[in-house]
Amino acid sequence: MKPMYINGRFTVGRAKEMIPVINPATEEVLDEVPRGTAEDVHEAVAAAKHAFPEWSRTPATVRAGLLHEAASLMKSHAEELTHLLTEEEGKPFVENEEEVFWTYDTFHYYAELARHERGRFLPPGDPDQINFVIKEPYGVAGCIIPWNFPLLLLAWKLAPALAAGNTVVIKPSELTPLSTLRLIELAFDHLPPGVVNVVTGYGPEAGETLVRHPDVPIIAFTGSVETGQRIASIAAPMMKKLHLELGGKDPMVIAPDVDIEMAVRGAAYAGMLNAGQVCTSTERLYVHESIYGRFSEELADFVGKLRLGSGLDPDTDVGPMIRNRFREKVEGQLAEATNLGGQILIGGKRPQQPAKGYFFEPTVIVNVNHQMALMRDETFGPVLPLMPYRDFDEAIRLCNDTRFGLGASLMSHDAKLVKRFFDNVKAGTIWINDPLTDNFAGPFGGMKMTGGGRELGQEGLDEFLEVKHVHWDVEGKIKEYWYPYGE
Ligand code: NAD
Repeated sequence: MKPMYINGRFTVGRAKEMIPVINPATEEVLDEVPRGTAEDVHEAVAAAKHAFPEWSRTPATVRAGLLHEAASLMKSHAEELTHLLTEEEGKPFVENEEEVFWTYDTFHYYAELARHERGRFLPPGDPDQINFVIKEPYGVAGCIIPWNFPLLLLAWKLAPALAAGNTVVIKPSELTPLSTLRLIELAFDHLPPGVVNVVTGYGPEAGETLVRHPDVPIIAFTGSVETGQRIASIAAPMMKKLHLELGGKDPMVIAPDVDIEMAVRGAAYAGMLNAGQVCTSTERLYVHESIYGRFSEELADFVGKLRLGSGLDPDTDVGPMIRNRFREKVEGQLAEATNLGGQILIGGKRPQQPAKGYFFEPTVIVNVNHQMALMRDETFGPVLPLMPYRDFDEAIRLCNDTRFGLGASLMSHDAKLVKRFFDNVKAGTIWINDPLTDNFAGPFGGMKMTGGGRELGQEGLDEFLEVKHVHWDVEGKIKEYWYPYGE
């Protein structure tokens, strides 16, 4: 059993039950964590509230040093964390090595960024006046994390929240809490008690208690649209600051001028990374009609050769899905699509091998349209559906025909098409010949139903700071425009 972390202590709190954590590649129980209760959340929030005044007054340079130290501790245990992440989440070891690297690097990045500036000085409205803007931390930040990148998406919240001077209560996904608890154990012991707390448990129980808590003024959440809507409906009447990163249905457009081998490999990577369980997975492919036939064949051929297996096997390209219910959702979308005329070129079913684990064959499907749930709703599985387009206006219209707006990719060397694409596609990230890359100096987030939050870059730090404008008349004279008006 791995205990929670509240007020600097590892504890089972008031939990009466344990939640088993399952390895999705073997279906075996890896370990268990406490099913945190409302009282545990209250205790964690009280500890974070108590720690806030001192932590927020700690000089930014000192906080930076402490966060660099945390990052170095993560780095020195990178192999162990990568192994645990692979067992718990399932994606290949190399993808988890990347996740752990980006995780500790996020702490280095925000340690420095947060000591750089804290507001701005304004030209005064009057010669005796001083005007300035202060950015200050909110207080206790509630961070609710999904399972698909448990450490990275935690780091994108925890690092800026702490660097800005907030204290934090984390609610990891009940599917992947182990790597979070180990990360906290390894790397945050040197912080004052209460600055970081972790309550494990279920969303409607521990998660909602955190959202409802009057002493938590900001909720940073990554997860599904449905949970985001539920959180928003609870937090809105309390006027809480919401930082929401929700689902996607990202398109990729293949222009006629591309090198087909490059485009095939890029599309396969963007669709199959983490078995398609990435918020920015390519879930819709629009291919120019002049190359549609050749592109579909080559893509199916390439995808059919990807090797399914345990993430711990170095030969594995694609790991399992996280749980059977997510695989069933993919099967349901494919069943509807094929009933309506969709044609599966490769994959489309559970593999014979590996026999255990929540595996699903990497799939390419054609003859699809926007009436199908497969092209409208998030799939979150290893499926690439393809549609042909005639001209670039049609491609842009198809890209925008969605309620989501997270990312969008274009494969083209034609500068005019590139400009039309980034000018007209409504998405928070645009990738040209470069799908699913991150640059921590720039913002990541979505438009439309994906929620308007931004992580990374200055924007990702500003989400955890609120703004105060100070007007100061240093002389303090009586103003001629004060009462009475008649004089
Ligand atoms: P989820 O919404 O089911 O759960 C996310 C977290 O919310 C978990 O910790 C869960 O326990 C908690 N939760 C559930 N119900 C809650 C409630 N009522 N109140 C408070 N907390 C609650 O999502 P998931 O299945 O863990 O993650 C997959 C989803 O996350 C996908 O939709 C994916 O697109 C999205 N995602 C988005 C981004 C992004 O940056 N936009 C990144 C990764 C994943």
